[in-house]
Amino acid sequence: MEAVGEFVQQRWGELLDEVGAGAAERYAAGEAFPRKYLIQAAQKSLHGLALPREIGGEGMGSNVWGRVLEEMTFRCDESAFSLVVSMTTSIAFTLYQSGDARLIDNYVRPFMSGELAATLAFTEDADFWSWGTTLTRDGDGGVLSGRKSYVTGGLISDVFLTYAAAEPGRLAACLVHRDDPGVRLIPAEGMGFQSAGMAVLEFIDVELGPERILTWTDGLDHSQLYLNERRSMQASWTVGRMRGLVARCAARLRTTTRQGQPVLDYANVAGALGRMHMLTDVAQTMTHDVLDRQARGETDLVYDAKISAAKHFSAEQAMNLAHQALRALGGHAYYGDEYYGRYVRDCAGLIPAGGTQDSLEITIGALVAKNLL
Ligand SMILES: Cc1cc2nc3c(=O)[nH]c(=O)nc-3n(C[C@H](O)[C@H](O)[C@H](O)COP(=O)(O)OP(=O)(O)OC[C@H]3O[C@@H](n4cnc5c(N)ncnc54)[C@H](O)[C@@H]3O)c2cc1C
Repeated sequence: MEAVGEFVQQRWGELLDEVGAGAAERYAAGEAFPRKYLIQAAQKSLHGLALPREIGGEGMGSNVWGRVLEEMTFRCDESAFSLVVSMTTSIAFTLYQSGDARLIDNYVRPFMSGELAATLAFTEDADFWSWGTTLTRDGDGGVLSGRKSYVTGGLISDVFLTYAAAEPGRLAACLVHRDDPGVRLIPAEGMGFQSAGMAVLEFIDVELGPERILTWTDGLDHSQLYLNERRSMQASWTVGRMRGLVARCAARLRTTTRQGQPVLDYANVAGALGRMHMLTDVAQTMTHDVLDRQARGETDLVYDAKISAAKHFSAEQAMNLAHQALRALGGHAYYGDEYYGRYVRDCAGLIPAGGTQDSLEITIGALVAKNLL
């Protein structure tokens, strides 16, 4: 990771310092970080890092990209920044995998240049077989109506990879643009990620040409392709955030004394820090393992149990770490430094995001029962 740290520092260090500078104030005010940072990051070749050279990327693979994402999250106080960047890169990867030259030219290349930013519009407060969002055939194209409840980076994105109910028992996937007539973005309320530009997305009879419709019938498989890759990126982000928490805790504990002694001389406090490091280290090892497997083409592209396990484990441990920090730091974590509040609020979102922990356990359990793992 040292080499990755140096690489990140060299290429994006200055930008990360600038983005991170106003993070706490933006979070408190519920303001999205400025869109210009996404453009600046792309101009410094962040978005194309893992994409192949033949389409203008740097061909470094998902193992490098995941580690860079982790490192950026670790270094930058604006933790929403790397998260939102990774929404675009995950969609770029999914569209690239389709092999469709039009999608690559019209979307993947502009994602790499920073001209466009993309995010996911999947969830609504309903089972996907009874979604209110529908795509209805209209000539060669379709008309989209409905509402998506919580879209990461929605307020600062241009393109929405949207899933909708189409023919009976089928999901469609389509690309919706922010400036399409009938698209409405509303700031979304939530527990955390206050500076990530979370949005509710409404579609009022949005007309989409055939070039915007990725599939009329296989949206469920399409979404799994996206979500599978997404989970390893979520785990990478989580590990970066965990490393940040441990470093902040250690820095505070190094300067704290009680009863005339540095608190780190108390075995229970040193032990807490040791525990926190171990949890983070195991989450990182698991995540790096799946990133390396992905880069070697050894993972299942639709559903990979090891990727899901990395998402699951890192999300659980991120919350466990918050608990450990509250024990080790005393009241400081609660009222002395607002950083911990942001951490707890954001990391709570890792439990449902990318597929609930329960759903991952059920799927992995079913695979074990069938002797498939
Ligand atoms: C921080 C954050 C960011 C997000 N960003 C986005 C985004 O960018 N775009 C987007 O579209 N969505 C986003 N979401 C939404 C997220 O994808 C969903 O919350 C998540 O997929 C869970 O879906 P749900 O909320 O409908 O919960 P549900 O799936 O309805 O879960 C409710 C409960 O029912 C259980 N359950 C559901 N189905 C089953 C089943 N078949 N068997 C057993 N138990 C079941 C679950 O385990 C859970 O306990 C985000 C969420 C968070 C927290």
